[in-house]
Amino acid sequence: MKSTESLDDYAAKRQFDETPEPEPVMEDSGLQRFVVQEHHASHLHWDFRLEIDGVLKSWAVPKGVPEETGIRRLAVQTEDHPIGYIDFEGTIAEGQYGAGTVSIWDKGTFDLIERDEKRLTVDLHGGRLNGGYAIVHTRENQWIILRMKVVKRRVAGA
Ligand code: MN
Repeated sequence: MKSTESLDDYAAKRQFDETPEPEPVMEDSGLQRFVVQEHHASHLHWDFRLEIDGVLKSWAVPKGVPEETGIRRLAVQTEDHPIGYIDFEGTIAEGQYGAGTVSIWDKGTFDLIERDEKRLTVDLHGGRLNGGYAIVHTRENQWIILRMKVVKRRVAGA
């Protein structure tokens, strides 16, 4: 996970007079929401985004976020997205970054259970996705996302 939260990468990839995507605005909504967007781009993938530190931490999951335990899926970390992206659905025109259609596959809220450089553990409360999920860093921008059997909660102050 990048240590500095910034939307510079997001902005650099896009022309906001050409794309319907939201402008790169940092904000703190005070909420902890997630979204999974089905993105029919050059390669179909699902974008998993968590509202953390005023941005949406984002991963592209080529085979989709697993709904069952025992399935490990590659999740490639992508640039932080603005919070406004959490409601985004639409069509990004040919020739623009991420050209294709985006639709919301699931959304909801989450509890942050654990977060360090190597691992992020969340308890998702969505329409389709519910329960504990771990996102584990492997190398470079590659992570693995999996559904946990049990949500392990850290004891406060431990
Ligand atoms: Mn995408």
